[in-house]
Amino acid sequence: MLWDYFVFLDLQLYFLLNKKQFMPISETDAFVIGSKPFGEQDKLVYLLTENDGIKKGIAPGANKHKNRFGSVFELFTEGHFIYNWKELKNLITISKGEIISSHFDLVSDSKNIFYFYIIAEILQKAIPENQINSRIYRLLGSIINSRKKHTDIRFLLIYFMIWFLKIEGLMFNPYICYNCYDKNIINAYIRDDYRGIFCDKCSKTEKNHFNEEELKLIKWILLNPPSKHQMFSKNINIKNITNIFLKKIEIHAELSIKSKRYIYDII
Ligand SMILES: [Zn+2]
Repeated sequence: MLWDYFVFLDLQLYFLLNKKQFMPISETDAFVIGSKPFGEQDKLVYLLTENDGIKKGIAPGANKHKNRFGSVFELFTEGHFIYNWKELKNLITISKGEIISSHFDLVSDSKNIFYFYIIAEILQKAIPENQINSRIYRLLGSIINSRKKHTDIRFLLIYFMIWFLKIEGLMFNPYICYNCYDKNIINAYIRDDYRGIFCDKCSKTEKNHFNEEELKLIKWILLNPPSKHQMFSKNINIKNITNIFLKKIEIHAELSIKSKRYIYDII
C-alpha cells in the first residue's frame, strides 16, 4: 500500500516537472486594471502584478454567465492569480483567480468611476511592456485606500499622475528653473514640451503655468502620502493642474487618454 502511494507521488512529481518544462506555472498578487470579452467565452484581462509588471492574459470561460472566476475581474479588484505562460509569448493563461480585496463598490461609485477609468487607462497604456516596478503597484494601493478614507478624488487623480510621472522618470523638478537654475520660483511656466518649468524672468510665450499655490501643492505631493491631504486652498485651479498633467502623460507616452472627456463637466 505504502509503496503504491510512493509510486503515485513519484508520478505526480514527474508530471509536474514535465509540465513545468513546457508551460511554466506562476502565481502572483495583482490588481485587475481592465478586462474585455475575448471571443465568445473568454476574457482578455490586464493585470498590474506586484513584482512582475503588467501582464496581459486570457481567462478561459470567464465571459460565460456562470464561471469559476466569479467577480475577480472587476476593475481594481486585488486578487491572487495562478497562470501558465509560454516563453517568447506575451500572453498568459489565467487558470485561477481569488479575490484578496474587492474595491468594486468604491470604484463604481458615480463620484469616482470616471477618475478610476482615467487611472486604469494610464496604467494600461503608458507602462512599457516588461517594465518591472513594484512602486506603481503600491501607488495604486495607496490611492484606493486613501479614497476609502474619503480623500478628495480630484486630488487623488492629480497625486496619481504626478507620482506616475516621477516613478517613470518623467517628472520635472518643481524646485528649479529649467533655463537659469534659479531656485526661487514663485510662478512656474511650463515648457510647451512639458519637460521643465521656467521662472518669471525666463518665461516667454508658454501656454500653461502654475501659480504659487499650485506649485506648492505639487511639491507637497512629492513629499507626503495621499491620505494626509486636507483640502484644496481656494487659489488652486484643479482643472488647470489636472489638464496639464494629463497632457504631460499623453505627450511622453505618445497616447491619447480617451476617458478624460468624462471628467471635464464634473471636475
Ligand atoms: Zn529662469
